[in-house]
Amino acid sequence: PNVTEEKLMVAVRVRPQRADEGARIVHVVSDKMLVLEEEADARRDVLRARRGADRHYVYDRVFGEDSTQGEIYEHVVAPLVTGALQGFAGAVFAYGATGAGKTHTMTGMMGRALSHLFSAIDESGNPQGYEVKMSYLEIYNENIKDLLNPTSGHLELRDEGGSSAPVVAGLSEVRASSAAHVAELLARGDRARTAEPTHANEHSSRGHTLLSVTVLGRSDSGLRRGRLFLIDLAGSERAGLRARRLEGAHINRSLLALANCIMALSGGARYVNYRDSKLTRLLREVLGGRCRTAMIAHVAPGAGHRETTRSTLHYAQRAASI
Ligand code: ADP
Ligand code: MG
Repeated sequence: PNVTEEKLMVAVRVRPQRADEGARIVHVVSDKMLVLEEEADARRDVLRARRGADRHYVYDRVFGEDSTQGEIYEHVVAPLVTGALQGFAGAVFAYGATGAGKTHTMTGMMGRALSHLFSAIDESGNPQGYEVKMSYLEIYNENIKDLLNPTSGHLELRDEGGSSAPVVAGLSEVRASSAAHVAELLARGDRARTAEPTHANEHSSRGHTLLSVTVLGRSDSGLRRGRLFLIDLAGSERAGLRARRLEGAHINRSLLALANCIMALSGGARYVNYRDSKLTRLLREVLGGRCRTAMIAHVAPGAGHRETTRSTLHYAQRAASI
């Protein structure tokens, strides 16, 4: 893989506004720029004060409220699926506060990625030469749960030693045979995600989910192993807050570790501490750089989410400077 394949692509998606969320404060200016409108300072000339505080943010790509799943797929995920077919590794992270649209996006990306994969294999002229395997897990409170076999309990993350990636002992790796088969597996997995105890409709805001897809391709020139990781991160609102509960603390650790790893990579550090959380240990291959990585940061457009929106945009911009 060359240098461009190791770059982090950062996109922001603004989800549609709902009636009860206050005035619109996020304005998409172009497909690379948005503006966060700050509160006017009533003591000063309103227009001038506000203009001074409004902040422009630039990313590799900005998707507005009208953006479709198909557009996001085409610009962010499809190139990584093409890469996986060629034997490269790729990862997509969904980042953002609870309710900002991470799961909505990732659910759409998972289905499209697998359909794309199977149609490309079917059209390859050598469909028997490929094998697609997938696993789907959740990390909740630093416990790993197999979403394809939820009754198997908490799984252990084992280091095999050396430079090889750690292994989740007992995790099911299912050989996927078609897009329809995958859709069925994913639907089953989603039902097994840990539901938010206090808000029944707020699904899995405290857990990270990780879909990993392995594409094995056999040809005369040998065996190629491509990988695709699709990660729906826990709600980022907890990353910046002091943890009051154990589970909050675990999320903090994972997201902070992820942030630290990305930051360390941006500074060209030779040593990155992957041992801080299960998420970063599992993603060592991704964070280690030999992987094309994309982050889709999610925000809501209304004033009611100003603080989390600002912190998400800020985090994404730091990540974009890599
Ligand atoms: P998160 O996973 O970040 O907590 P969700 O994906 O569950 O957020 O989104 C919260 C709500 O907003 C859901 O009801 C979801 O269907 C809706 N939603 C999110 N993004 C979009 C979008 N781009 N278009 C339409 N509805 C969306
Ligand atoms: Mg979610």
